[in-house]
Amino acid sequence: MVLYNPGRTSNYPSEPPEKGFRFHYLGGGNEVGNVGIMLENQNKNKLILDYGLAPTHPPKYPSEAPKVKNAIITHSHVDHLGMAPWLSANYNTTLHGTELTSQISRLMWNDCYKISSIEKYPLPWDKRDIDIAMESWKTHNFEKPWEQEDWKLSLHKAGHIPGAAMLKVDTPTKKILFTGDFDTRDSPLTSGAKPQKVDTLFIEGTYGGRNHPDSKEETDRFLEHIETIVDRGGTALIPAFANGRTQDIVMKLHKFAPHLDVHVDGMGKRIAKMQLEHPETLRDHNALSKAWSWCRKVSSKSDKKKALNSDVIVSTSGMLQGGPSIWYLNRLRHDLRNEILFTGYQAKDTGGRKLQNENKVSIFGKETDIELNWEKFSFSTHAGHKEIIDFAKECQAKEVVVYHTDPNEARPHLEEELTSMGVKVYSPENGISYNLND
Ligand SMILES: [Zn+2]
Ligand SMILES: [Zn+2]
Repeated sequence: MVLYNPGRTSNYPSEPPEKGFRFHYLGGGNEVGNVGIMLENQNKNKLILDYGLAPTHPPKYPSEAPKVKNAIITHSHVDHLGMAPWLSANYNTTLHGTELTSQISRLMWNDCYKISSIEKYPLPWDKRDIDIAMESWKTHNFEKPWEQEDWKLSLHKAGHIPGAAMLKVDTPTKKILFTGDFDTRDSPLTSGAKPQKVDTLFIEGTYGGRNHPDSKEETDRFLEHIETIVDRGGTALIPAFANGRTQDIVMKLHKFAPHLDVHVDGMGKRIAKMQLEHPETLRDHNALSKAWSWCRKVSSKSDKKKALNSDVIVSTSGMLQGGPSIWYLNRLRHDLRNEILFTGYQAKDTGGRKLQNENKVSIFGKETDIELNWEKFSFSTHAGHKEIIDFAKECQAKEVVVYHTDPNEARPHLEEELTSMGVKVYSPENGISYNLND
């Protein structure tokens, strides 16, 4: 049981730094996700960047935040905003972000609440805190700065998912950029992030030491695989995350395989509608709009049954943790012509990981053998190793903080290459305060 005691159990230092800037990871320093970053100067001007949780089993939460007036939420994934309602409810914290992020946040929080109730995990905030959080949003357009004392803050497109932002902090002595989750490559939904000239760069290092396969080759492999399944009379079940991946997959299928009969189920349907209302966040509004009217949206039990005879089903949960994808799997599993195509990371202790390791999945609480073939594809919208390094070079930052990363497998590769470029590298651990000079 996590017990936060607002203002009393935070380990964050109560005094401001003597000079320069302090940064401190409540979470997300030496791990992927679970992000909460404090930045403060000697005048007690401070902010928190993201406040999420890790949707593991059981979930992981960042350490308790100190009292803070302003939170900047980079994007609407739960590992970056899952704990934001706690901030607003306890500290009256204002949440800054793009309008699309604010709109999707309610769905993400509701979903988070629902999952914690079903799986009986404690959540440090209550359902009514979602309403308080929704009222705490102050939305900003990309590239439109606002002031926080003598800091000028602005949001810049991060790629990754629609509405995702990088935060730039212009102070009288230093320019600082936080990437949040980012990608410089275009995806079907979003255009890649553009570098900014700064002194200090906080960069996510999820893919340190790993490069992505060529996007066209991976897409071809994916499409060929689907054709093989369809040719033998089967259905391809594609578990996909609701926020970004579902729409990316549908857009690919519409563009390259419009002859297929594709059905879409889960929360991704509502998110697509919201994305379409925010053309400023999309690479090609028209392409999403056409792809979305082309695919069949499942909305009833009879739609679900029809989908079982289609070519492709794209559905949440992306990690086979409940949701309609489990309902489909339970029916499709008896016919070995069907197949499961994974399009995203399968976290530890999830149905998807269990299936990949042991050919078993928990279906409605019952451990079930799955004999279907499965295959995985890499459609990540995080920068790969090469993109991370190129981005840091183009930002010309003299100091780089590598976070949102595995400290053993991923970060050392980035540390090494950045250091060889003459950059001062910080590898933050959670719970430790670091100082940046003016
Ligand atoms: Zn993340
Ligand atoms: Zn993300």
